[in-house]
Amino acid sequence: MNILQVLARNFKSGPVTLRFPERVTAPADFRGPVQFDPQRCVGCATCAYVCAPGAIRVTGSDSSFEWSYDPGQCTFCGRCVDFCPTQALTMLAERPPLYNRPGALRQTCCLAYPRCPECGQAAQPVNDVVLARVFAEITAEIRTWSRLCARCRQRRYQPALIETGYPARSKEYGP
Ligand code: SF4
Ligand code: SF4
Repeated sequence: MNILQVLARNFKSGPVTLRFPERVTAPADFRGPVQFDPQRCVGCATCAYVCAPGAIRVTGSDSSFEWSYDPGQCTFCGRCVDFCPTQALTMLAERPPLYNRPGALRQTCCLAYPRCPECGQAAQPVNDVVLARVFAEITAEIRTWSRLCARCRQRRYQPALIETGYPARSKEYGP
């Protein structure tokens, strides 16, 4: 086929690209923007650790943490979804929104750690997804234990260890 035939064929078939901002529909198994479920997140920061381009950031203090995500930095590899221990992340089967400056799409969610029912200190939660991975059955006692801070768990369930001073107190375990 010579160049004139190519031109004639293209002229006849018409445009094959879409004019901005039109976009082709994403297929059902498309890996699009990451969706975050704050009810399931325990603030472990595994997702930020495995995210090579730094699209996810997790920062925290003693009482709360901030989870943030920028679809503009995301490569949609799905590693954060695979590694999240609580299944707090999923991917939308749609294309990310259009944006015109870096960081324009970043979303931030600030979550307070729940309070330990015994001492009132902020405690990193252990949710049901994590408990189900560890225990064959989640009894009432296990659920109570899971809501305590690390120090109170030890105080209640490992008094002998606490008396011996092990493990050493740290900021994480509170006063
Ligand atoms: S890996 Fe999952 S549970 Fe951990 S901070 Fe990320 S979203 Fe939250
Ligand atoms: S899909 Fe990949 S690039 Fe996007 S936030 Fe998750 S780990 Fe990072």
